[in-house]
Amino acid sequence: MALLAIDGHVHLHDFDDPAPVIRRAVQSSVIRMVSVGMDRESNRRSLELAERFPYRVLPAVGYHPWSIRAEEVEATLEDMAKQLPRCVALGEVGLDYRVKVKKELQKEVFSRALELAREQDRPVIVHSRFSHQRCLSMVLEEGVRRAVFHWYSGPEDVLDRILDAGYYVSATPALALRTKHRSAMERAPLDRILVETDAPVRYQGRRAEPVHVWTTLKALAEIKNRSLEEITRRTTENALAFFGLGPLEETPPCDCP
Ligand SMILES: [Zn+2]
Repeated sequence: MALLAIDGHVHLHDFDDPAPVIRRAVQSSVIRMVSVGMDRESNRRSLELAERFPYRVLPAVGYHPWSIRAEEVEATLEDMAKQLPRCVALGEVGLDYRVKVKKELQKEVFSRALELAREQDRPVIVHSRFSHQRCLSMVLEEGVRRAVFHWYSGPEDVLDRILDAGYYVSATPALALRTKHRSAMERAPLDRILVETDAPVRYQGRRAEPVHVWTTLKALAEIKNRSLEEITRRTTENALAFFGLGPLEETPPCDCP
Protein backbone atom coordinates (compact mmCIF):
# COMPACT_ATOMS: atom_id res chain seq x y z
CA MET A 1 0.00 0.00 0.00
CA ALA A 2 1.26 3.45 -0.90
CA LEU A 3 2.21 5.91 1.80
CA LEU A 4 -0.86 7.93 2.63
CA ALA A 5 -0.81 11.23 4.47
CA ILE A 6 -3.41 13.49 6.07
CA ASP A 7 -3.15 17.27 6.33
CA GLY A 8 -4.52 17.91 9.82
CA HIS A 9 -4.99 21.67 9.45
CA VAL A 10 -5.62 23.64 6.26
CA HIS A 11 -7.76 26.70 5.55
CA LEU A 12 -9.31 25.50 2.29
CA HIS A 13 -11.79 28.38 2.47
CA ASP A 14 -8.90 30.75 1.73
CA PHE A 15 -8.33 29.32 -1.75
CA ASP A 16 -10.39 30.91 -4.53
CA ASP A 17 -10.71 27.53 -6.20
CA PRO A 18 -9.98 24.69 -3.79
CA ALA A 19 -10.73 21.91 -6.30
CA PRO A 20 -7.31 21.89 -8.04
CA VAL A 21 -5.63 22.28 -4.64
CA ILE A 22 -7.43 19.19 -3.39
CA ARG A 23 -6.63 17.34 -6.61
CA ARG A 24 -2.90 18.08 -6.36
CA ALA A 25 -2.93 16.85 -2.77
CA VAL A 26 -4.74 13.61 -3.60
CA GLN A 27 -2.44 12.95 -6.56
CA SER A 28 0.50 13.10 -4.19
CA SER A 29 -1.20 10.76 -1.66
CA VAL A 30 -2.32 13.43 0.78
CA ILE A 31 -5.71 11.85 0.62
CA ARG A 32 -7.63 13.61 3.36
CA MET A 33 -7.49 17.11 4.79
CA VAL A 34 -9.07 18.78 7.78
CA SER A 35 -10.58 22.06 6.60
CA VAL A 36 -10.39 24.43 9.53
CA GLY A 37 -12.75 27.42 9.92
CA MET A 38 -12.13 30.88 11.38
CA ASP A 39 -15.56 32.54 11.50
CA ARG A 40 -19.13 32.16 10.23
CA GLU A 41 -18.30 32.56 6.56
CA SER A 42 -15.31 30.23 6.51
CA ASN A 43 -17.13 27.66 8.67
CA ARG A 44 -19.91 27.62 6.11
CA ARG A 45 -17.39 27.18 3.30
CA SER A 46 -15.69 24.30 5.11
CA LEU A 47 -18.97 22.47 5.43
CA GLU A 48 -19.84 23.12 1.78
CA LEU A 49 -16.50 21.73 0.66
CA ALA A 50 -17.00 18.67 2.84
CA GLU A 51 -20.33 18.07 1.14
CA ARG A 52 -18.72 18.43 -2.27
CA PHE A 53 -15.75 16.20 -1.43
CA PRO A 54 -17.02 14.00 1.39
CA TYR A 55 -14.06 11.64 1.47
CA ARG A 56 -11.30 14.22 0.97
CA VAL A 57 -12.42 17.15 3.07
CA LEU A 58 -13.12 16.73 6.76
CA PRO A 59 -14.73 19.84 8.18
CA ALA A 60 -13.96 21.66 11.42
CA VAL A 61 -15.76 24.81 12.58
CA GLY A 62 -14.14 27.41 14.79
CA TYR A 63 -13.85 31.01 15.82
CA HIS A 64 -10.29 32.24 15.48
CA PRO A 65 -9.13 34.92 17.94
CA TRP A 66 -8.19 37.11 14.96
CA SER A 67 -11.77 36.97 13.68
CA ILE A 68 -13.72 37.69 16.87
CA ARG A 69 -16.12 40.65 16.64
CA ALA A 70 -18.17 41.38 19.77
CA GLU A 71 -21.40 41.82 17.82
CA GLU A 72 -21.03 38.45 16.07
CA VAL A 73 -20.13 36.26 19.03
CA GLU A 74 -23.61 34.95 19.87
CA ALA A 75 -24.59 34.13 16.30
CA THR A 76 -21.25 32.47 15.53
CA LEU A 77 -21.35 30.24 18.60
CA GLU A 78 -24.98 29.35 17.93
CA ASP A 79 -24.12 28.31 14.38
CA MET A 80 -21.15 26.29 15.60
CA ALA A 81 -23.30 24.36 18.07
CA LYS A 82 -25.56 23.33 15.18
CA GLN A 83 -22.72 22.60 12.76
CA LEU A 84 -20.47 20.65 15.08
CA PRO A 85 -22.29 17.29 14.81
CA ARG A 86 -21.22 17.23 11.12
CA CYS A 87 -17.58 18.03 11.94
CA VAL A 88 -14.54 15.95 12.88
CA ALA A 89 -13.23 18.66 15.20
CA LEU A 90 -13.82 22.09 16.65
CA GLY A 91 -11.29 24.64 15.49
CA GLU A 92 -9.56 26.82 15.02
CA VAL A 93 -10.10 28.40 18.43
CA GLY A 94 -7.83 29.74 21.13
CA LEU A 95 -6.09 32.88 22.27
CA ASP A 96 -3.65 35.22 20.61
CA TYR A 97 -2.13 37.84 22.85
CA ARG A 98 -0.62 39.71 19.91
CA VAL A 99 -3.91 40.77 18.34
CA LYS A 100 -6.06 43.73 19.24
CA VAL A 101 -9.20 41.79 20.19
CA LYS A 102 -9.60 42.21 23.96
CA LYS A 103 -8.22 39.36 26.03
CA GLU A 104 -11.40 39.07 28.08
CA LEU A 105 -13.50 38.63 24.95
CA GLN A 106 -11.03 36.10 23.52
CA LYS A 107 -11.20 34.11 26.74
CA GLU A 108 -14.97 34.19 26.82
CA VAL A 109 -15.23 32.89 23.26
CA PHE A 110 -12.58 30.23 23.79
CA SER A 111 -14.19 29.03 26.99
CA ARG A 112 -17.61 28.73 25.38
CA ALA A 113 -16.12 26.93 22.38
CA LEU A 114 -14.39 24.47 24.70
CA GLU A 115 -17.67 23.85 26.45
CA LEU A 116 -19.27 23.03 23.10
CA ALA A 117 -16.47 20.62 22.25
CA ARG A 118 -16.82 18.87 25.58
CA GLU A 119 -20.60 18.60 25.31
CA GLN A 120 -20.39 17.14 21.80
CA ASP A 121 -17.17 15.21 22.48
CA ARG A 122 -15.19 16.70 19.60
CA PRO A 123 -11.41 17.18 19.54
CA VAL A 124 -10.25 20.80 19.67
CA ILE A 125 -7.68 22.50 17.42
CA VAL A 126 -6.02 25.18 19.53
CA HIS A 127 -4.26 28.36 18.42
CA SER A 128 -2.10 29.40 21.38
CA ARG A 129 0.17 32.16 20.12
CA PHE A 130 1.87 33.96 23.05
CA SER A 131 -0.72 32.34 25.31
CA HIS A 132 0.37 28.71 25.62
CA GLN A 133 0.08 28.49 29.37
CA ARG A 134 -3.36 30.09 29.55
CA CYS A 135 -4.72 27.99 26.66
CA LEU A 136 -3.61 24.79 28.33
CA SER A 137 -5.16 25.78 31.68
CA MET A 138 -8.45 26.57 29.99
CA VAL A 139 -8.51 23.29 28.03
CA LEU A 140 -7.77 21.37 31.23
CA GLU A 141 -10.34 23.31 33.28
CA GLU A 142 -13.03 22.59 30.76
CA GLY A 143 -12.21 18.88 30.88
CA VAL A 144 -11.76 18.56 27.12
CA ARG A 145 -10.67 15.02 26.27
CA ARG A 146 -8.80 15.55 22.97
CA ALA A 147 -6.86 18.67 21.97
CA VAL A 148 -4.05 19.53 19.58
CA PHE A 149 -1.86 22.57 20.15
CA HIS A 150 -1.41 23.61 16.59
CA TRP A 151 2.07 24.70 15.32
CA TYR A 152 3.40 24.48 18.86
CA SER A 153 6.35 26.82 19.48
CA GLY A 154 5.92 27.56 23.17
CA PRO A 155 7.99 26.84 26.26
CA GLU A 156 9.18 23.37 27.15
CA ASP A 157 7.50 23.18 30.56
CA VAL A 158 4.09 23.90 29.01
CA LEU A 159 4.82 21.33 26.30
CA ASP A 160 5.53 18.73 28.98
CA ARG A 161 2.23 19.50 30.67
CA ILE A 162 0.38 19.25 27.33
CA LEU A 163 1.91 15.81 26.78
CA ASP A 164 1.28 14.70 30.38
CA ALA A 165 -2.37 15.58 29.91
CA GLY A 166 -2.53 13.28 26.86
CA TYR A 167 -2.87 16.07 24.31
CA TYR A 168 -1.16 16.46 20.94
CA VAL A 169 0.97 19.07 19.19
CA SER A 170 1.15 19.61 15.45
CA ALA A 171 4.03 20.28 13.10
CA THR A 172 4.00 22.57 10.05
CA PRO A 173 6.45 23.18 7.18
CA ALA A 174 8.02 25.83 9.46
CA LEU A 175 9.88 22.92 11.06
CA ALA A 176 12.60 23.42 8.52
CA LEU A 177 12.97 27.09 9.45
CA ARG A 178 12.03 27.98 13.00
CA THR A 179 14.12 26.80 15.92
CA LYS A 180 11.46 26.99 18.67
CA HIS A 181 9.01 24.92 16.68
CA ARG A 182 11.79 22.52 15.81
CA SER A 183 12.94 21.99 19.38
CA ALA A 184 9.35 21.38 20.51
CA MET A 185 9.01 18.64 17.90
CA GLU A 186 12.35 17.15 18.93
CA ARG A 187 11.04 16.91 22.47
CA ALA A 188 7.52 15.59 21.76
CA PRO A 189 7.23 11.84 21.24
CA LEU A 190 6.17 10.71 17.79
CA ASP A 191 2.90 9.24 19.03
CA ARG A 192 1.70 12.74 20.00
CA ILE A 193 2.50 14.60 16.82
CA LEU A 194 0.07 15.46 14.03
CA VAL A 195 1.25 16.94 10.75
CA GLU A 196 -0.29 19.83 8.86
CA THR A 197 0.37 22.78 6.56
CA ASP A 198 -1.85 25.62 7.87
CA ALA A 199 -2.10 26.43 4.15
CA PRO A 200 -2.34 28.90 2.52
CA VAL A 201 0.22 30.31 4.98
CA ARG A 202 3.43 31.32 3.23
CA TYR A 203 6.72 29.71 4.16
CA GLN A 204 9.77 31.55 2.82
CA GLY A 205 7.51 33.46 0.48
CA ARG A 206 5.93 30.33 -0.94
CA ARG A 207 2.22 29.82 -0.51
CA ALA A 208 1.51 26.43 1.02
CA GLU A 209 -1.05 23.88 -0.12
CA PRO A 210 -1.98 20.56 1.49
CA VAL A 211 0.52 18.79 -0.80
CA HIS A 212 3.24 20.48 1.26
CA VAL A 213 2.44 18.27 4.21
CA TRP A 214 5.28 16.26 2.65
CA THR A 215 7.64 19.12 3.56
CA THR A 216 6.50 18.75 7.17
CA LEU A 217 6.89 14.97 7.05
CA LYS A 218 10.38 15.12 5.55
CA ALA A 219 11.55 17.64 8.14
CA LEU A 220 10.07 15.52 10.92
CA ALA A 221 11.76 12.40 9.57
CA GLU A 222 15.06 14.24 9.69
CA ILE A 223 14.51 15.56 13.23
CA LYS A 224 13.43 12.17 14.55
CA ASN A 225 16.07 10.35 12.54
CA ARG A 226 13.54 7.87 11.15
CA SER A 227 12.49 6.93 7.65
CA LEU A 228 9.86 8.99 5.84
CA GLU A 229 7.79 5.78 5.62
CA GLU A 230 7.72 5.29 9.36
CA ILE A 231 7.01 8.97 10.12
CA THR A 232 4.17 9.04 7.59
CA ARG A 233 2.61 5.81 8.77
CA ARG A 234 2.72 6.81 12.42
CA THR A 235 1.50 10.40 12.07
CA THR A 236 -1.34 9.16 9.83
CA GLU A 237 -2.31 6.67 12.54
CA ASN A 238 -2.20 9.53 15.06
CA ALA A 239 -4.55 11.61 12.91
CA LEU A 240 -6.99 8.73 12.47
CA ALA A 241 -7.10 8.20 16.24
CA PHE A 242 -7.26 11.89 17.12
CA PHE A 243 -10.07 12.75 14.70
CA GLY A 244 -11.87 9.45 15.31
CA LEU A 245 -11.69 8.28 11.67
CA GLY A 246 -11.95 4.81 10.18
CA PRO A 247 -9.03 3.23 8.31
CA LEU A 248 -7.95 4.84 5.04
CA GLU A 249 -8.84 3.16 1.79
CA GLU A 250 -6.35 3.59 -0.96
CA THR A 251 -9.06 3.69 -3.60
CA PRO A 252 -11.99 5.28 -1.82
CA PRO A 253 -15.39 6.00 -3.31
CA CYS A 254 -14.10 8.63 -5.70
CA ASP A 255 -14.85 12.25 -5.11
CA CYS A 256 -11.77 13.54 -6.83
CA PRO A 257 -12.30 17.04 -8.14
ZN1 LIG B 1 -4.70 27.90 11.08
